[in-house]
Amino acid sequence: MRRFLSCCLVLCTFTLHTHAQSLYMPRDIQRAYQKGTRSPDGRPGKNYWQNTARYDITVRAMPPDRNIRGRETITYVNHSPDTLKTLTFRLIQNIHQTGAARDGDAGADYLTSGVEIDSFSVAGQARPTNWAGPATVKVVPLAKPLLPHDSVRMQVAWHFPISKQSGREGMIDPTTYFLAYFYPRVAVYDDYAGWDRIAFTDSKEFYNDFNDYTLRVQAPANYIVWATGTLQNPQQVLQPAAAKRLEQSMTSNEVIHVATAADLAKKSITTQAPMNTWVWKANDISDVTLGLSDHYVWDAASVVVDPATNRRASMQAAFADATKDFHSSVKFGQNALGWFSRNWPGIPYPFPKMTAFQGFADMEYPMMVNDSPQEDLGFAQFVQDHEIAHTYFPFYMGINESRYPFMDEGWATTFELLIGRVERGEQKANEDYKQFRMGWVSNPAANQDLPTITPADELKRGAGTNAYGKPSISYLALKDMLGDELFKKCLHEYMNRWHGKHPIPWDYFNSFSNAAGKDLTWFFHNWFFTNNYIDLAVEKVDQAKKKSSVTIQNIGGFAVPVDMKVTYADGSTETLHQTPAIWQADQRHATVPLNAKKTVKSIELAGGIFVDANEKDNKWTAK
Ligand SMILES: [Zn+2]
Repeated sequence: MRRFLSCCLVLCTFTLHTHAQSLYMPRDIQRAYQKGTRSPDGRPGKNYWQNTARYDITVRAMPPDRNIRGRETITYVNHSPDTLKTLTFRLIQNIHQTGAARDGDAGADYLTSGVEIDSFSVAGQARPTNWAGPATVKVVPLAKPLLPHDSVRMQVAWHFPISKQSGREGMIDPTTYFLAYFYPRVAVYDDYAGWDRIAFTDSKEFYNDFNDYTLRVQAPANYIVWATGTLQNPQQVLQPAAAKRLEQSMTSNEVIHVATAADLAKKSITTQAPMNTWVWKANDISDVTLGLSDHYVWDAASVVVDPATNRRASMQAAFADATKDFHSSVKFGQNALGWFSRNWPGIPYPFPKMTAFQGFADMEYPMMVNDSPQEDLGFAQFVQDHEIAHTYFPFYMGINESRYPFMDEGWATTFELLIGRVERGEQKANEDYKQFRMGWVSNPAANQDLPTITPADELKRGAGTNAYGKPSISYLALKDMLGDELFKKCLHEYMNRWHGKHPIPWDYFNSFSNAAGKDLTWFFHNWFFTNNYIDLAVEKVDQAKKKSSVTIQNIGGFAVPVDMKVTYADGSTETLHQTPAIWQADQRHATVPLNAKKTVKSIELAGGIFVDANEKDNKWTAK
């Protein structure tokens, strides 16, 4: 650490570049900076690299048979400077095996026999696999090491039974399947941790490279398939009228019913061959997912997501006709795609499509969400907005969710609030935020106030708090302190530097300090590296003829904004907004000047969504 600091002081001319080094940095991350794969100003380093692959996948589903069969060709490209003697594979479906390490319990309907590998070859040579057993991570020795800048071609055939109980994937009903994490994939090998071998234990999420995919899904006639990517052969798999409606939806603001219940009853949607092969392509994307059903209806429309080019994105929904809220899914989705593109984060929706699929998960995938039905339409929109917001984090930004989920959930939670204020009104959105995202403040038992930077795979009870509410409210505190314009400039700088790559928290911290042109280290240390929580108190009020002030004590420690409601003896009131900047000099006490011409009768601190753990000490009244 110290050696790194001195070498950096020599190299860097801007003092800004050296500030972030006062933030704790784990030793594996320090090595990445030493190797120049990441730059102290927050940019990818001159030696930055990441690996990639091409996946050509064919998968077959024949409901109600639960067996899913797949084969794939993977061309894995080693852009690293390292010679790889092994590859690491992920078999996420093994989470369903009896004996798999899991964060929660598993009922009988969740359990399956897991993934069975039928064949595996490397460079055309059949290789034995030792892939039995419930582990979700498998290390494969290579007969011939994979040299830097070389690639290796592998073929895998596998099968697994889809689980009856559906979570992020599984059976939705006997003839509706949602397939995610359904193919063996190469784990991420990166510049700071090497092979990502963090076991998938269900509650934590994922970390993927950006790959190119061709996905072929074989399903019987009258099964519609929805998937990540652009459908390559609508004319082959759809009857002409249905294909035409789908095409019309690509330029239609109005919702088009591509497949209604009546269409499905008439068997007038899919081509009437025994099996149809649906082909999708998606490039430079972190995953592919699919849903299929013989009775889900299909809505579609589109919306302009890039006013500069008039580029439209398709919004589609697949659901049981009887599910009320999903009939609004496409309208809600058009609004979300457009709003996120124009406002927050204010970057055009980066994909050609989004499909909302009715399931149970409330989960995001690239170009797809799997959401549970909701009685309350407003809540349905809230959930769908959140999942669509994930398009930016983790998918556009390549976040390591298993180690740093605050880098994606925190942002999705922030965007969910900001869009919700427009959709449901500021008061209702703020109430929802306090209810769903800020409960941790007054519930110390649910969270040991562990620093947000703590790798999530080391956490159990505190993981949710550290992934959602705590980082989200930190982003909102920073927005309050910098103001919307500067905050957005910093956010865009960070996103432009790192989209399609693998940013880590220090890239976020350093990019924001660098783009803001001011040292924000104190702020990031306060929010990410401490055991702070939110609790302010009025410490004292000094009233003198020429100079009056109030001193606020920061008991919890987080650098939050606050509204001070001041009531004067003459009955007048004013609200003085204080940004988190008041905590920069002294993070425990801040003295704020008051109008000395009037006598103060009472002062009340109001945090709003910055929920205060103890509001009893937030009020001062003159004796
Ligand atoms: Zn989320």
